[in-house]
Amino acid sequence: MDKKLPSFLQMMTNYAISSAKHIANGLKITTEEQYRNRLQACHECPHLNENKRCSLCGCPVENKAYRVTDYCPDTPPRWEKLTIGEEGKPISIKKSQNDPREDYNSETGY
Ligand code: SF4
Repeated sequence: MDKKLPSFLQMMTNYAISSAKHIANGLKITTEEQYRNRLQACHECPHLNENKRCSLCGCPVENKAYRVTDYCPDTPPRWEKLTIGEEGKPISIKKSQNDPREDYNSETGY
């Protein structure tokens, strides 16, 4: 399996897009279990290079895996894609009257 990384420019572009989505979605992170499951898949993946970067997108997997909005670029994906709302449809986030946290979404737990 070829573990050659994308070009530097492509890696920076991919990481910038990933970061922009992460920021736009309120910096939501996975649960610890989801993070571990994603990293386990990466560590068993032939696309992981020796510098812990995904050779398909060039992103560092330890950063990539905790971002709710990020995804595995392999076909088929090797990790679960997290969706927000039923069937991945956007939902409005309403604060529960019983939940003191700001911005808490009871459907996703984030
Ligand atoms: S993100 Fe997907 S393709 Fe990339 S190293 Fe992890 S499991 Fe492999």
